Amino acid sequence: VKHYLDRIQENAHLNAFVEVYAAEALAAAEVVDQKLARGEAGRLAGLILGLKDVLSHQGHAVRAGSKILNSYTAPYTATAVQRLLDADAIVIGRQNCDEFAMGSSNENSAFGPVLNAADHTRVPGGSSGGSAAAVQAGLCHASLGSDTGGSVRQPAAFCGVVGLKPSYGRISRHGLIAYASSFDCIGPITRSVADAALLLEIMSGADDFDSTVSTREVPAYSESLAWSGKARIGYIRESVESTAIAPEIREKTTALLDRLKAKGHAVEPIEMPLLHSLLPTYYILTTAEASSNLSRFDGVRYGHRSQEATDLESLYKRSRTKGFGEEVRRRILLGTFVLSANYYDAYYTKAQRVRRLVREESERFFKQFDFLISPVTPTTAFKIGEKTEDPLQMYLADIFTVQANVIGNPAIAIPCGSGENSLPIGIQVMAPYFGEKNMLAFASYLE
Ligand code: GLN
Repeated sequence: VKHYLDRIQENAHLNAFVEVYAAEALAAAEVVDQKLARGEAGRLAGLILGLKDVLSHQGHAVRAGSKILNSYTAPYTATAVQRLLDADAIVIGRQNCDEFAMGSSNENSAFGPVLNAADHTRVPGGSSGGSAAAVQAGLCHASLGSDTGGSVRQPAAFCGVVGLKPSYGRISRHGLIAYASSFDCIGPITRSVADAALLLEIMSGADDFDSTVSTREVPAYSESLAWSGKARIGYIRESVESTAIAPEIREKTTALLDRLKAKGHAVEPIEMPLLHSLLPTYYILTTAEASSNLSRFDGVRYGHRSQEATDLESLYKRSRTKGFGEEVRRRILLGTFVLSANYYDAYYTKAQRVRRLVREESERFFKQFDFLISPVTPTTAFKIGEKTEDPLQMYLADIFTVQANVIGNPAIAIPCGSGENSLPIGIQVMAPYFGEKNMLAFASYLE
């Protein structure tokens, strides 16, 4: 713990942590030490963990990167966090992120941007930017992030670490501040696939507090990491051919696919006609859900309350206008619009239909293949400020990651070398619904 506290201090300029629990972590370490001496320590004894600022941790502040939650203290602990604590993980602090997990660069945080440790002029990705940069810079062993459209995998790729998004319903969302409830997943960011598997194993499984969690048995992921045999791998032709993807990313992806072919795996290109419908579908449905989820922040029940209000209506308006940042307001407006009476069918219902089509197309795909391999992102980490003026450009960073959330499948981002300027490049492996076990074994084989 002392070592990591020093590392965090030396790297304060990265702005990865918004709060560090120094005294508490040292005290927790004492307790774990005693347990170790008695031979009673949990499986995660000594693991130093960071939490994205959207996870509730009883008695601790949680801000979701927003001003609107100022002065709010979590009254309970997220199930996923509790399970890690029960296994003797030590939580060292709360990590910076995009406001309400909306963003791909961590630039939407009310607490300032996070710097990529590989190049301080670049973003770490988002929205779990602080969580990825912290693992990248060795400020903790592992972080917990949340992934609604890529927020664990995309920053993991930009920072050269491992990011896992489990199947929807694998890990309880109880205690995770909601962005888009039918997409949100908690996922670990780690330095190895083995660590990701271990954390997944401990966090997964039924929970009385979240009715969307599956009761399916939790396999011993961490003990099933040996891959043998030949895999059937599909890849989207466009992802290695389109000039919209950076050449260095295409090269790395192609080289990996070639290596797999040479080792005797079946590797085949597929067409994915719905690829270009993924982002519009994702942004229509997630903003709709967000506009509803975020209506609870009304200036009455949580955090920021405007002092200039004259009546209830103006209290709502003023508190929300001041409390929320620009991107969150944009999404609430967009979501409210697509749900409004005159546009509901044209946008919301249509996006739901496309979601089903994508699911059907993916189901057909996974009848034929074990894994879908793709880049994680179309570029490496971009410059701070480069895309802030153009939200659509920013949304494009998620082109390869949103599919897994639209259909609910698991996907993992693992490092795959580096490109120009030594910036990390990631590769994504997506698997069938609840196919984490094979996916992790295969990712470990690729690692
Ligand atoms: N970048 C995507 C968005 O802004 C994904 C966010 C996430 O997964 N939380 O919506």
